[in-house]
Amino acid sequence: MQFNELNLSQELLDAVEELGFSEMTEIQQKSIPLLLEGNDVTGRSNTGTGKTACFGIPAVESIKPDDNNVAVLILCPTRELAMQACGELKKFSKFKKYVRVSAVYGGASMEKQIHELKHGVNIVVGTPGRVIDHMKRKTLRLESLRTVILDEADEMLNMGFREDIETILKSVPEERQTVLFSATMPPAILAITKEYQKNPVTVKIDEKYRTVDLIDQYFFDVAMGRKTDALKLLLSAYSPKSAMIFCNTKKMVDDLTDELSESGFRVMGLHGDMKQAQRTQVMNGFKNGSVSVLIATDVAARGIDVNGIDIVFNYDLPQDNEYYIHRIGRTGRAGHKGTAYTLISGRKQLYALKDISKFTKAEITELPLPQKNDIISLKLNRIFEQTKNIQNPSREALSLAKRLIDTGKSPEEIIAGLIDEKFQAEISSLPEFDIPTPLRKSRRRDKADTVKIEINIGRNQRIAPNFILGALADATGLSGRDFGKIDIFDKHTTVEIPEAETDYILDSMKSAKINGHKVEVKLYDGKSKSAKPLKDDFRNGKPQKKFKQSSKGRYSESSPKKTHRIKKRH
Ligand code: ADP
Ligand code: MG
Repeated sequence: MQFNELNLSQELLDAVEELGFSEMTEIQQKSIPLLLEGNDVTGRSNTGTGKTACFGIPAVESIKPDDNNVAVLILCPTRELAMQACGELKKFSKFKKYVRVSAVYGGASMEKQIHELKHGVNIVVGTPGRVIDHMKRKTLRLESLRTVILDEADEMLNMGFREDIETILKSVPEERQTVLFSATMPPAILAITKEYQKNPVTVKIDEKYRTVDLIDQYFFDVAMGRKTDALKLLLSAYSPKSAMIFCNTKKMVDDLTDELSESGFRVMGLHGDMKQAQRTQVMNGFKNGSVSVLIATDVAARGIDVNGIDIVFNYDLPQDNEYYIHRIGRTGRAGHKGTAYTLISGRKQLYALKDISKFTKAEITELPLPQKNDIISLKLNRIFEQTKNIQNPSREALSLAKRLIDTGKSPEEIIAGLIDEKFQAEISSLPEFDIPTPLRKSRRRDKADTVKIEINIGRNQRIAPNFILGALADATGLSGRDFGKIDIFDKHTTVEIPEAETDYILDSMKSAKINGHKVEVKLYDGKSKSAKPLKDDFRNGKPQKKFKQSSKGRYSESSPKKTHRIKKRH
């Protein structure tokens, strides 16, 4: 079913078309009509199935030109998701200028958000903590609210936002539409549904498998400037029949193609600056197997549908979480197993990868780089396996073998010489990594990298670790994975945090509440009673934000996020 079969306004159909959507995903087909009719809906489907549009399109459509108050509130678990949903809604409302969408989340300036809220915003996307904050300050008024949407409801509950959500749901108008989307339906979600929705219609899409579930995902942390060398080792170690390597720029594609070719790898590059004929040639070579490794940019690789890709390498980290899914989705197709390897260098990329892992809800496991010696024995084994079952060599080859033995050389020497001819060439170009990369179980356990903070709330206040984590993530905008061990005592709790973010986290938590309790957060100095008081000098209205997700604008709404078609799964 196509979007234009829905009874949507022309402005919305145009916006959807501009996004490149034509066919609806299954959850969209089932839920959008219900939402447009004003039903309370509970929707469940996996990540990447287009749930934002499920609620976003009806939300935008429901706004009337004279709506000068907030009519739709969308709650998301994290700042990233709030920004992402806000960006998507802005695209849907591109041709409806009277739809004004704004995002509110922790870890960002209150003033800017207040300014936006004052100027006739009618759709607000936000994280629960910050929404409540604005409600209390009366900078967010919900008297005219007609629809409230909980996106990723399960994740919000996991993060301890239940109380916040209930507070919000209790303080919005009784007469309203309540919509809930979730990837899973645990009992806690059903409880919310029962309590706060009226005759909800449940829409569920059960898929046999998720593409990304079938892909084993690993990463290698390599020294700065040595990604290409690492890649050479990996290509030698795994010798994939068919692999794709993703880079972020055309220049990187060219450089990497040159360098790998020079080292004897059969690779070809693909990017947007190439002539169509050349691109077709490369694609054909890759499809028919004469080129085993394709190096490409995201844009060039879009729409490439090649089955049987064993491995996807991320040479550069994707600039957008969605890209990661689309990249690795090249492997593991049609229910086959696939593998994705990501190369990272440095702390920033580690953080970005953690974020990807959170976004995709996938485990990405660190592996040590293979050592040259391992590769040598691997290659020797391969030669052994290939050679031991040799049958019926040709008459010509046999007679040449006899002639060689007649020269007085032993058969061992002759065979070894022949092996070397192939083998030495292959291993001579293998780079050395002198110091094997140490495998850290977890960076945050690294003493040098982390410190502890103390929060004056504990078991006595019935606190669970995910409540703490939720509040921290909400207030700081950091990802849950940035925080380390959480120890809950009777009256206080300690949390490991990245040392570099200490000031920022302490500042962000100044007005935070956890489970309804106002809390004080201090640097932990080992003795809870004499914990250092919080410094007061950097509160100047604009918290210094030291932690930036990325300089590339990974989540910024203005980043030119490309749209993707969802592969229909059968
Ligand atoms: P979910 O919330 O279910 O994880 P998203 O709403 O984030 O999924 O959508 C995933 C991606 O799919 C986004 O890039 C979105 O723009 C795209 N998308 C959504 N619906 C469609 C569609 N009908 N056709 C093509 N692409 C779509
Ligand atoms: Mg979503």
